[in-house]
Amino acid sequence: MEALNTMISSNLKIIGNRTCEKCGSSVPIIQTIRDGRTVEVSDCLTCDSNRVQDEAIRFKKDMDQRRGEIIFKKYSLIPDHLKNANFNNYEPVNESTSNAKKQAIWYANHFDELRDENSLLFQGKYGVGKSHLSYAIANYLKSDGKVVLFVSMPDMLNLLRESYSKNDFSETDILEVCKNADLLILDDMGAEYVKLDNGKESWAVDKIFTIVNSRMDKPNIFTTNYTSRELAAKYGNHGGRIVSRMMKGTKPIKIDAPDYRLKGW
Ligand SMILES: [Zn+2]
Repeated sequence: MEALNTMISSNLKIIGNRTCEKCGSSVPIIQTIRDGRTVEVSDCLTCDSNRVQDEAIRFKKDMDQRRGEIIFKKYSLIPDHLKNANFNNYEPVNESTSNAKKQAIWYANHFDELRDENSLLFQGKYGVGKSHLSYAIANYLKSDGKVVLFVSMPDMLNLLRESYSKNDFSETDILEVCKNADLLILDDMGAEYVKLDNGKESWAVDKIFTIVNSRMDKPNIFTTNYTSRELAAKYGNHGGRIVSRMMKGTKPIKIDAPDYRLKGW
């Protein structure tokens, strides 16, 4: 302490130490002279640097969110009935839909604690509310400051196609935004058109693989009308790899409900 004191100017003197009540670091209490008066200062540098770091992270998230919203809002068509989708207005009609709702709410509430199993797959026929529950999760997490992207697979591919002829954003922009989102929701997997060219991988399948691959180990929600086997078959040679990446750390939730569009969906 003496050596350190002599090293810093005679106007600064370490007169003791305190433990930061916030982070537990040991913080020197420094006596100094300001405007001719002796004062004690004791700023926690750990907390200061954490604060700067947090601000930088928040700023980056904010930018990511805005970038994603600019790109996707313009080109991805979210049906009106989904825009207000939340957990309250999802009305289960049987045990399966009720279970799906419970799991969706649990997922949203525990999002920050999810580890190995951090993704969901809602599988079921058209009109059972897969998109509704996914969008409800998106709304919930967005209001919690998370960067969430919700896009249907057909819209995603249209967006990528359009990026080749538009100047507002590039394919790389789209892929980056998808890769960096806290949560990516790919709605209606398998509904996109994926023509296979003479046994070669089609452009669409290739893009789907790129996206799914970039999201491995990150939280995703997929919805699909197809079984995993049907999806794999649809995606041709890449099928097995796409589906195995999709299913890594993903909890499948099958929703069985009468085959009609339920109230409000
Ligand atoms: Zn501190």
